[in-house]
Formats: sequence, structure tokens, C-alpha cells
Amino acid sequence: MLPQLYRHRWMDEEIEAFREQVRRYIAGELTPHLDGWRRQGYIPRAVWQGFGAMGFLLPELDEAWGGAGANLAYQLVVQDEMTRAEVPAGTTSVHSIAAHYILAYGTDAQKQRWLPRLASGEMLGAIAMTEPGCGSDLKAIGTRARRDGEHYVIDGAKTFITNGFTCNLLVLVVRTGEAGSRGLSLIVLETENLAGFSVGRRLEKLGQHASDTAELTFDGVRVPVDQLLGAKEGQAFGQLMGQLPFERLLIAVPAAMVIEQALEQTVQYCKARKAFGQTLFDFQNTRFKLAEVATLAHIVRSFVNDCTQRLLDGTLDNEAAYMAKWWCTEQQCRATDECLQLFGGYGYMAEYPIARMYADARVQKIYGGANEIMKDLIARAL
Ligand SMILES: Cc1cc2nc3c(=O)[nH]c(=O)nc-3n(C[C@H](O)[C@H](O)[C@H](O)COP(=O)(O)OP(=O)(O)OC[C@H]3O[C@@H](n4cnc5c(N)ncnc54)[C@H](O)[C@@H]3O)c2cc1C
Repeated sequence: MLPQLYRHRWMDEEIEAFREQVRRYIAGELTPHLDGWRRQGYIPRAVWQGFGAMGFLLPELDEAWGGAGANLAYQLVVQDEMTRAEVPAGTTSVHSIAAHYILAYGTDAQKQRWLPRLASGEMLGAIAMTEPGCGSDLKAIGTRARRDGEHYVIDGAKTFITNGFTCNLLVLVVRTGEAGSRGLSLIVLETENLAGFSVGRRLEKLGQHASDTAELTFDGVRVPVDQLLGAKEGQAFGQLMGQLPFERLLIAVPAAMVIEQALEQTVQYCKARKAFGQTLFDFQNTRFKLAEVATLAHIVRSFVNDCTQRLLDGTLDNEAAYMAKWWCTEQQCRATDECLQLFGGYGYMAEYPIARMYADARVQKIYGGANEIMKDLIARAL
């Protein structure tokens, strides 16, 4: 139903075959369990071992690190297909981001130690930046890592951490030095049986119910100094900024898929549902609304595909990635709202995918850098 989009160079037959493989695996192995996972509020970590065994977790890593040596578009295709199936893409996207920090800033020994286990799904990654007192303003991070001989001793608290309950590897942003951004460092923690580390509440959310979001506490956690990422302390801010374009696309790609899914399901529903002696689709308002959403779907996907090509070419600037993050997520919220309206009361029922799409969409404008922060960053470059 969607117009034929311009095919970028990255969309070759190989990646389309990979997409098909991912789609089939998700339909067979994940979809049947999704309702149960939503009810319990998390996806068991063991699930990702199957995903990893198929080569879907980190296909973009070199073979030496347990990947397939594929390009980053393969990871984005996984996110796309997870979203199509309503499996929360945030779960594997934060996993991928954690791995990319290790890949970009880790020593060979650190890469050897963690990347193959992240690629296989033996380890599930998370990233912990946000604290109860600071989210957007990362410069204010208070969780402290104090050097004590050959260890860091970590005290503090994090909140809203995706995979916080299920992960066993955590990339943690801590303060190792002075106030402000130059005092921040990244430290990797293996969290299983780690003394002083505890998972607090699993937070109840408006949407994304199968994805666990948790509070974490660090009370005198001792970590060997060789788990610092990077050659010296104080580099976290630059390290976090260095991975931004890819991370923003991990949010924009699901936005594109949700709009397409919402459109498809709403068209189907409106053609079947009757009112006043005709189908909902026969009302001019419905047709105009759906034409608008179809246009949005087309533009969002074109933009995201173009950004993907630029990411692979090494020409995706930070500003374009910020634009993709804020704009695509705004369109996602707008489109799911418009579509839900056309379902009437059924659209408000949790058993209808459109209700979940609407609720799941809302956080896209908040996490990964609030959209206002994205606009501020764009404006700085004008
Ligand atoms: C479901 C979920 C999953 C998450 N996963 C993770 C995770 O895995 N790891 C992690 O570290 N964090 C995670 N977060 C946290 C998320 O990144 C933060 O919520 C987000 O960065 C905003 O921070 P905050 O909530 O503290 O809001 P605040 O910083 O208090 O901001 C609140 C609002 O104020 C406005 N605002 C703030 N600053 C500015 C400004 N400079 N200019 C204009 N307006 C501004 C914006 O509207 C913003 O939404 C997650 C959050 C949610 C809800």
C-alpha cells in the first residue's frame, strides 16, 4: 500500500534475506510469548541467547568479537523487525549501544572479555546514565567512583534503566573527578552476584510493558580499575557524544515502522467497520486522515533510509541524527494518535495493537535525549 520508496545502496538482496530471517524467527520464537512478557513486565534474559545464536544481536561486530562483520544497517533492520512484531526494540538497542561503547573505547582485553558474550546473548547489556536527580543535565551526575588502590568503590543510584532488571553487564556513567562534564567516566560492571549492587523497583510504565525499566543502587560496589573504559578517567562525555548518530537512528527507525504498522492496521479496520450505512473508510475525513498518515509514513521512512545510508557512508552529521530523533518520534506520536481516533472505543482497548502503539510511542519523545534537547543541539549549529 505504501508508495515504492527510493532504494538506497544499503538495501541489497543480502540484507533483505537477513530481514526475512529475523522476521521469521521473531514470529516463531518471540511473538507467541509476548503477551506473557507484557504481563510479567520483562523478557527473560535467556531469550536473547536464542537471538544471539541466530546472529541477530550484534551482527555488526567483527567476527573476532562474535559478530558477522556486517554493517550497521543490519542492526537497524533487527530493530525494524522487532518493532514490526511489537517486541520492544529498546531492549536490544541499549544492548547494542553498550557493546558499541566497549567496541569504540575498550582495550583489546576488554573487547575480548565482553563482546563475544554480548554477541552470543550470554550477557545482556544496559547503560546507566540517568539518576533520580538528573536526566537531561548529565553534567550533574552524582554517582561517585572513588579510587581505592586497584579498585573503584562506587556509591550512588540510577533510575529508568532499560534492561536494569534483566541485564548482567552495565555500562555505568560515574563521577571520578571534578564537578561538571570533565569529571565523568564510563565503567563496565558485571552485575551478577556483585556485592553492593542491587536492583530496586521495576517501574510500572504507561507503555512498553514487556521492556523492564528499573532503579539501580550502588552501595560500596568494588570494581577493578581495569574495568574503566578508555585510557584515562574523565572521558565519558566525549565517549557518549561519539556514538550519538547511530544511537539516534536506533530510535528513529522504530518510529518509521510504527507509523507504517499503524497505517496498515487502521486502513484495514476502517475498510471493515461500518457506520451510517457505509464503511469508516468512505468518510472523507477518514480518507484525508489516512492520506496524511501515509504521507508521513513515506517521508519518515525516506528520511530514516537516507540517514542510514549516510551513517554507512560516514557522512551522517550529529545534527541530522538529532533531527531524525525528534522529528520522527513526533510524527510517530501524531500518527498513532490520529489512527487510534479512527478505531473509536476499540482503539482505547489494550487488546488492540493500536492502543499499545499509542502508549508505547509516547516515551520516544523523552528518552535518548528529550526532543527539546535535540532541538537545542540543532539550534547551536545554526
Ligand atoms: C522507559 C524509559 C527508558 C529509559 N531508559 C534509560 C536507560 O536505559 N538509561 C538511562 O540512562 N536513562 C534511561 N531513561 C531516562 C531518559 O533518558 C530520561 O528520562 C531523559 O533523558 C530525560 O531526563 P529526565 O527524565 O530526568 O527529565 P528532565 O531532565 O527532568 O527533563 C524534563 C523535561 O524538561 C524539559 N527540558 C529539560 N532540559 C531542557 C532544556 N535544556 N531545554 C528545554 N527543555 C528542557 C524537557 O521537556 C524534558 O522532557 C529512560 C527513560 C524512560 C522513561
